[in-house]
Amino acid sequence: MEAVADLREWMTLYYNVTNFIHLSTSSSRQTVSCTTTLSEISNMQLKVLESSPIYRVIATVKEMKTDEFYYNACINVVNARQCGKKTTRTADGWFCNYCNFESANMEFKYALKMCIEDSSSHVWAIAFQEATQEIVGMSAKELATIYMELAKTNKIKHTS
Ligand SMILES: [Zn+2]
Repeated sequence: MEAVADLREWMTLYYNVTNFIHLSTSSSRQTVSCTTTLSEISNMQLKVLESSPIYRVIATVKEMKTDEFYYNACINVVNARQCGKKTTRTADGWFCNYCNFESANMEFKYALKMCIEDSSSHVWAIAFQEATQEIVGMSAKELATIYMELAKTNKIKHTS
């Protein structure tokens, strides 16, 4: 019970002055339905639909997969929006299966797998471009460049 009292005290003192990082930048136009726990989210059997409700969880990052945090995204612009899907390497550049487009260039984009946890549970989730940039504080290209440099000099093990 002492721990509960401590937590309540922390909550009262710091909740409104603590900087929580909001990761829902890409869907900020939609309103958040409610704040919930990871355990409840896991039990909801969520499906991704056009009008999916948005839930907020307050969680901490427990672990990150540091060897696969980016992908090579398609730069083709379709209906005034960048395709952004994953491309595959070809002899001349990068090919996107999704829009059937080949280019000499691609764009590094984040897809960081991370384990987040709160008091109820933990779950593996993927943080995409805006969210990961917010967490890491640099672009996917910058971090991928550093990563590949380190892999080249065998300072880290490169798996892909
Ligand atoms: Zn594409």
